[in-house]
Amino acid sequence: MIFTPINTWFAEEINQPLFICGPCSAESEEQVLKTAIELQKEKKINVYRAGIWKPRTRPGTFEGKGIEALTWLQEVKRQTNLRVAVEVASPFHVEACIEKDVDIIWIGARTTSNPFSVQEIANSLKGINIPVLIKNPINPDLDFWIGAIERIYDAGIRKIAAVHRGFYPFEKTSLRNIPKWEIPIELKTRFNDLPMICDPSHISGSREFIEEISQKALDLNFDGLMIESHINPEKALSDASQQLKPDDAIQLINRLIVRSISIENEDFANLLCRFRDQIDSIDSQLLQLLSQRMNVVREIGKYKKYNNVTVFQIRRWQKIIETRMLEGKKIGLSEKFIAQLLELIHKESIQEQAEIMKKKEN
Ligand code: PEP
Ligand code: MN
Repeated sequence: MIFTPINTWFAEEINQPLFICGPCSAESEEQVLKTAIELQKEKKINVYRAGIWKPRTRPGTFEGKGIEALTWLQEVKRQTNLRVAVEVASPFHVEACIEKDVDIIWIGARTTSNPFSVQEIANSLKGINIPVLIKNPINPDLDFWIGAIERIYDAGIRKIAAVHRGFYPFEKTSLRNIPKWEIPIELKTRFNDLPMICDPSHISGSREFIEEISQKALDLNFDGLMIESHINPEKALSDASQQLKPDDAIQLINRLIVRSISIENEDFANLLCRFRDQIDSIDSQLLQLLSQRMNVVREIGKYKKYNNVTVFQIRRWQKIIETRMLEGKKIGLSEKFIAQLLELIHKESIQEQAEIMKKKEN
């Protein structure tokens, strides 16, 4: 799959990282315009977001202003240089957005989780050239995310970006949604040129974590950020605790450090090259050691089979964890890392030995 880079989505050059800011929901013409006029003072912000149809968890809460709010966004376009972005969940939404000159549409997390809806949206997009942002599904299921991207791509859309907004936490956590950065990283590994945007507002759920999450996303080379901003966050009809005043959003954006991925400084490039050589050599030794360890594991497997001894030995396993954690800690490795690494190695060892037990002959 070949995706169009964000900076060529429109006739005019668009800033990268792309900053998309605006309220969770469009609530009134005044709120929409006041927020937009404040945000457009920062030239780094190119796109204005606002939810028109809100997918709320429970009925009876504010569900968006619907079609009439699209005319408020047209007014934003008249009065500012901002492009506008709206969430869609059905062909009807797509049609209304196209008719009212919306520049970018996005598919929300709840919709991405439903292939029927994504397919219907994809069908309604055939022959239309509009950028589509695709949020990750609520559950940490990479295939669902990829599936939605494929459906939109198959409709002929090439201006696509994935939006990482975190995953539903089953336990209570300080963040509203768990980032699970490994999932967007895996997505980028599979689709190298797929533009990636992070939505730190929905990951955070409260204002205090937005900056940290935003910086982390930029450090991971995300192509843009979607940040919720409301002229009067305390009075917001949805997501009040995570929206920033326009001025605070602008200040936050200006504190963020954008690092470059290319290495222009020659000294630094040489140094990095030497460090990378070291890493390559250490990795190769690690692989050799793991292979040696696995050979021993197989030998033990044969011995266990011969003596009718179980593969899994809880005391031995506890001892391994205990001693390695202690040893690892002494040499500056985190307990969590050691535990995860050992678990992975142990799982593989058990599997190898179980295979040996299954075999008829040794
Ligand atoms: C939103 O962007 O306001 C929204 C509803 O987000 P999500 O789909 O990520 O929950
Ligand atoms: Mn929101």
